[in-house]
Amino acid sequence: MTTSKTTAGGTETARLIETTETFSAHNYHPLPVVIGKAEGVWVWDLEGKRYMDMLSAYSALNQGHRHPRIVAALKEQADKVTLTSRAFHNELFGPFCEKLCRLAGMEMTLLMNSGAEAVETAIKTARKWGYKVKKVPQDKAEIIVCTNNFHGRTTTIVGFSSEDQYREDFGPFTPGFRLIPYDDLDALKKAITPNTIGFLVEPIQGEAGIMMPRDGYLKAAADICRQNRVLLIDDEIQTGFGRTGRMFCADHEGVKPDLYIVGKALGGGVLPVSAVIGRRETLGLFRPGDHGSTFGGNPLACAVGIASLDVIVDERLPEKSAEMGGYFMSRLRALNSPHVREVRGKGLLIGVEIKAERGKARPYCEKLMDLGILAKETHDQVIRFAPPLVISRADADWALERIAKVLA
Ligand SMILES: *Cc1c(COP(=O)(O)O)cnc(C)c1O
Repeated sequence: MTTSKTTAGGTETARLIETTETFSAHNYHPLPVVIGKAEGVWVWDLEGKRYMDMLSAYSALNQGHRHPRIVAALKEQADKVTLTSRAFHNELFGPFCEKLCRLAGMEMTLLMNSGAEAVETAIKTARKWGYKVKKVPQDKAEIIVCTNNFHGRTTTIVGFSSEDQYREDFGPFTPGFRLIPYDDLDALKKAITPNTIGFLVEPIQGEAGIMMPRDGYLKAAADICRQNRVLLIDDEIQTGFGRTGRMFCADHEGVKPDLYIVGKALGGGVLPVSAVIGRRETLGLFRPGDHGSTFGGNPLACAVGIASLDVIVDERLPEKSAEMGGYFMSRLRALNSPHVREVRGKGLLIGVEIKAERGKARPYCEKLMDLGILAKETHDQVIRFAPPLVISRADADWALERIAKVLA
């Protein structure tokens, strides 16, 4: 059979997208690109066209695609043992937990798989602490959350979302959550009651459109929490592991939360690995049978998690992110684009907000795709630029040249 290469590839792409539309629930609206191969900051479609990945799977690829050390760890472990369940011990589980605790300066961790599972685990941890230690009356515990939060997609989590679409037709929801405006310390003080056990917050709201609280917000919130015996539960699933230019985003304000929630880059872009990290006072309350996960802490995940953390530390990815992020953001601002309302962010978590009168962000993302840059809009008006933290200056310049064309 003789078909021209571009036509064959193009047809194959169209066919695969059609198959996806037919057999998969339409819970995403992907850009029309089918990725067949990836390495570092780059991905290739089926026709061999190269793109720079500026989404990094929502910051799950901080170490870049297929980092050799992470892939080697995955393969090596795959040849030994992949799954034991927690009914038995495995060689890497303890060492991985220790590494994670030492990195976070904490005492204990509880491993799960997806980010949402880790958020659920943090909620259960906080409630257990509330009843056992703070002595809140049974079933009265309250957790304070913020408007425009994103903590995942389980029914409990979407139940305390302020986004109508996340909740619509999914009720009834779990009680025990109180919604206050983000970046509002007075609202936090007022919302606290004797039954408040936790304040669940993102240090930067990524999914909401890279929304940055004013400087000092997290620090002041941490003080309010301490004064009222409320646990500060810091969702660093997107902002953690160097994304914002420090190991954890809370480090910018010298804040040590009671519980860290981590995920995404903990799995090195290879596997879902998530965790809650805290002190003995909270995570030490779990007894066998209280909570669990069949795949949580499996040997493959531990091998990948250890390698993922080693890469972040050894390659100084937080420092790189601070340096490249500062450069990238200043170059974006210097474009003085007539389309742009604001450029904001920290490290390599950068949002470019398109002026409302210029339409939505999606067409800009489509133009970027044509020029070889994969970026995704978040919340209609904002283009998120969050490349792997291993991005070089030359690669950044390559991207900025193309972004400049689209935003000119
Ligand atoms: C992605 C994300 C989650 C959910 O993680 P999943 O792995 O998709 O379940 C939770 N919180 C924040 C801040 C996130 O960015």
